[in-house]
Amino acid sequence: MRILVTGGAGFIGSHLTDRLLDRGFDVYVIDNLSSGSIKNLSKCVSQSNRCRIKICDLKNDDCLFNIDYTPDLIYHLAANPDVRASYQDPQTSFNENILVTFKVLEFMRKRNIKNIIFTSSSTVYGDAIKIPTSEDHPIKPISIYGACKAASEIMIQTYSRLYKINSVILRLANIIGSRSTHGVIYDFINKLRKNPEVLEVLGDGMQKKSYLYIDDTIKAMEMTIDLFNEDVEGLEKVYNLGNEDWITVKEIAEIVIKEMNLGDTKIIYKPYTSDGRGWPGDVKFMLLDIEKIKKELGWRPEKSSREAVIATVKDLLKELFNT
Ligand code: NAD
Repeated sequence: MRILVTGGAGFIGSHLTDRLLDRGFDVYVIDNLSSGSIKNLSKCVSQSNRCRIKICDLKNDDCLFNIDYTPDLIYHLAANPDVRASYQDPQTSFNENILVTFKVLEFMRKRNIKNIIFTSSSTVYGDAIKIPTSEDHPIKPISIYGACKAASEIMIQTYSRLYKINSVILRLANIIGSRSTHGVIYDFINKLRKNPEVLEVLGDGMQKKSYLYIDDTIKAMEMTIDLFNEDVEGLEKVYNLGNEDWITVKEIAEIVIKEMNLGDTKIIYKPYTSDGRGWPGDVKFMLLDIEKIKKELGWRPEKSSREAVIATVKDLLKELFNT
């Protein structure tokens, strides 16, 4: 199988590329390196007979439309994943998420490419009425980023119906692990490296969310390929991909401080709203119902949210101190 990975130099995309190469697939990576890095693609670089990289911006037609590669499957990950920044700069979020997804879909239509797996987000649910939140819960984002993911989902599913494209949408919880360059753990470590005395936490620390380790994430993304076979046409699947438990931001701060061996750090909480959110558009409570993916794909997470946080702090500290 020939597989194109958009955003393949990023955190999740590069781990996915590594795994696809290990499985023996032929991989083509497209990335503009806006947040990704070629350093993440050393396995791909060393296997240039089976792995190619094109550095270009998917917003431009000449990035995708003239490549001499027609994949069987596209993992579409390229995006601007910064939820907080999408409040200040909706245009960038629109361009990097909706416009880029549209370009990918047009490429598929024109080249007759039949299979796509899209990394959507738990943020499409907004402040969920029901927790754990299942896939049939109403979509009501409270951030521009979440709205862009929801719009991209609708566009992908419409292409599925009109052009008989098979689509799998994965609504990801918070994904954490080595190579991540955004999110709460990365922020805490960097703040504490600058000032180990005080840790400023956005929000009241009581935000409670589910965190999934990168290895568990990649396993599920890889298993998703099995849904595509010669006989399926116009497949439309949506799966939540998260953990079975959750953890507060306060607990994460305490884990990071402990793992960095900083006993006396003072934690200061900075709620942005009266109900303790960290920024406009911050979903305070997020726990996805993952029964569907467990039942249909036979996947289940190995690490709990807490174990994933501890492993990630160790991963990131190792990366930071080795560079
Ligand atoms: P990331 O920023 O590390 O990866 C995104 C990659 O896309 C980067 O390598 C970036 O350079 C590339 N990119 C962005 N705009 C591009 C463009 N116009 N043209 C070409 N390349 C472009 O982020 P990530 O955490 O690896 O996220 C991967 C996907 O998973 C994204 O779609 C994100 O929205 C989604 N997701 C991530 C999380 C999470 O917790 N990390 C949660 C939910 C959903």
